[in-house]
Order: sequence, then C-alpha cells, then structure tokens
Amino acid sequence: MIDPIPLMEKLARDHRLELHEYEALLGNRTPESKEYLRRLAEETRIAVYGRDVYIRGLIETTNICKNDCYYCGIRRSNAGCSRYRLTRSDILEAAGEGYTLGFRTFVLQGGEDGWFTDERTTALIRELKRRHPDCAVTLSLGERSYESYRALREAGADRYLLRHETADEEHYAKLHPAELTLQNRMECLRNLKELGYQVGCGFMVGSPYQEVRHLAKDLKYIEEFSPAMCGIGPFITHKATPFAAFPSGSFEDTIYLLSILRLIKPTLLLPATTALGTIHPKGREMGILAGANVVMPNLSPLSVRKKYELYEGKIATGEESAQSVRLLAERMESIGYKVVTARGDAKQSI
Ligand code: SAH
Repeated sequence: MIDPIPLMEKLARDHRLELHEYEALLGNRTPESKEYLRRLAEETRIAVYGRDVYIRGLIETTNICKNDCYYCGIRRSNAGCSRYRLTRSDILEAAGEGYTLGFRTFVLQGGEDGWFTDERTTALIRELKRRHPDCAVTLSLGERSYESYRALREAGADRYLLRHETADEEHYAKLHPAELTLQNRMECLRNLKELGYQVGCGFMVGSPYQEVRHLAKDLKYIEEFSPAMCGIGPFITHKATPFAAFPSGSFEDTIYLLSILRLIKPTLLLPATTALGTIHPKGREMGILAGANVVMPNLSPLSVRKKYELYEGKIATGEESAQSVRLLAERMESIGYKVVTARGDAKQSI
C-alpha cells in the first residue's frame, strides 16, 4: 500500500496531482488518512468561505425529457413516470416564496423538455430578474446550442450546471445512448464558460461500470477545466431504469471525493447534494464537514416534488425542503456552520 498522506499534502499545497497520483490517492485509504484529508479540506474551506453555507432554492421545472440516460428515473422510456411541467406562474410563485425564506439564488433544473424554448425561457429569466434583481439565476436544463446558451445568458442567467457525468469516453457510452456523447457534453461546458456563465460540471459517484481510473480522469478534468461549481453525489439505483440491478454508490467515497475537490480548487462552490442527503441521514452535515459549502433545498411546489424522481427514495421534505430552511439552519449551527442570505458567488481567490 502507498502512503496517501504525502499526496494529500501535495494536493493541499499545489492543487494538482498527476493522473496516477489521483489514482493512488483514491485507491489507498485508511480511516486515519481519510480523517486527515477531511481536516485539510475543512481548513481550506474555512480559509476561503469561513463557516458560511450558501443556500440555493431548487425549482424542478419539468420532468419531461427527450433523453434516455440509462441511470435516470425521468428518462423518456420510463412509462411509469408521471409527467409534469410547471407553468410560468408556478415558477415565479416558487421563487417569490423562496425570496421570502431568504434565498438569493434560484436554480431552474429540468429534463430536456422542448416546451422550454429560448423564447419562453428567456422571458421567464427576465421576469425573475425583474422581480428579484438581487438574486442569481442558475440554470440546469441540459444540452443546448451555443446560440441558445447565449440568449439565456443575455436574458440574465448567471450560472449553469451541466454535469459532465464521466470524463472517460468509453464509460460515458455505457451510461448513455449513442446520440449523447462526451464530446458534445464537453463542448457545451466550454461554450458556457466562454459566454461568461459561472459553470458547474460534476459526476455521480459509484455509477455503473465506474472504476478508480475513471474517477482519476474526472478529477484531472475538473482540475484543468477549473469550473466555478462542481456537483457530485452518489449514484442511486432507480428500479424503472436499465440499471435497476446495479448497487448505489458509496457515501464514504462521495465524502472523500468532496474533500479532494475542495483541495483541487479552494474557491469551488461545492454542494452537499440531495443524493448525499438521501443515502445518509446526516449526509448534508457530513458533506459540509468534508469541505462542501452549498446546500440546495427543494422549492418546487409540493404537488410535483415526488415526481421529479431521478432516483428512488429522493428526499423532498424535512431539511430538504426550502420551507424548512430554519431546520436546515439549526442543523448547520449544530456543526458550527451558518446558513447565510446571500447570492453566494464564487470567491475569486483565497
Ligand atoms: N437534464 C439536466 C438535469 C439533469 S438531473 C441535465 O442534463 O443536466 C441532474 C443530475 O442528476 C444529472 O446530471 C445526474 O448526474 C444526476 N442523476 C440522474 N440520475 C441519477 C441517479 N439515478 N442517481 C444519482 N444521480 C442521478
């Protein structure tokens, strides 16, 4: 076994490792070294963001999707999925409620639903920004053309989340049908960056066929692409998908990877995701303690919340619910952190 401690120290100092060093870091862990990495990540996080936790109000705009990703519960082939699409006024109302609750970033996330044309989506973004000029608008609406991303950006969108899912082409092809390619995904990410969005990429931990060498490539990609945000969470099995027989990803691996990501990019906006909160009752808190600095509670209308079922057992109430932001704040206070009312943009440097 390789001693991972010198690699951890190198990463904390240089914010980069060679591909084979990432592999060694992932493949050689002891309970003691894991705790050491966590502490390095927490120190780095506190040096940049203090003990502030940024919150984002997540509005799941539609579960109608033209894509057929093998892992996803809202894939077009899942006939058992009860479909919905929020109206413009549903979305504006959810944002208004979120504003009152203290949210200053709204994330519009949805399947690739053709109803959300550039015309409708830009009008919606403009109205959101008119009503809440002090808020950031984040989009997570999948792959679109350069022109479309430009129109949405010009309408006022500030950030865009588009997970790269895996940085290995062969692995990508095992998770997606042939019409979806890693090349296109990465081109979208480059386009978004060029257009001046704060961009987020990311991947699932423990997705089917994932190997340590794939994760090492994910880390190298993130190091080089240097996104403002990065979303990672465990893969969680959904029985109505082709991956029904695969086990879910591991909580511990996700925590370990969050800490590595914090050291790769100290200023990263790094959420403790819903998927992490779903597989462990203290997932959100432990994610924050491992270096995460963002939580995205659900602001979608209660009537549709269960229907945006990317994976099974997705939590949607309790501290996951934007309406329970007080409860979330208390939970964060119990571990020495503080939910803040702020746009929560990425800091430029330490
Ligand atoms: N259509 C948008 C939003 C996708 S949903 C897009 O393409 O970007 C957001 C993320 O949920 C996906 O990027 C994927 O990484 C994650 N996800 C989907 N199915 C999942 C599952 N079964 N378990 C865990 N995460 C999942």
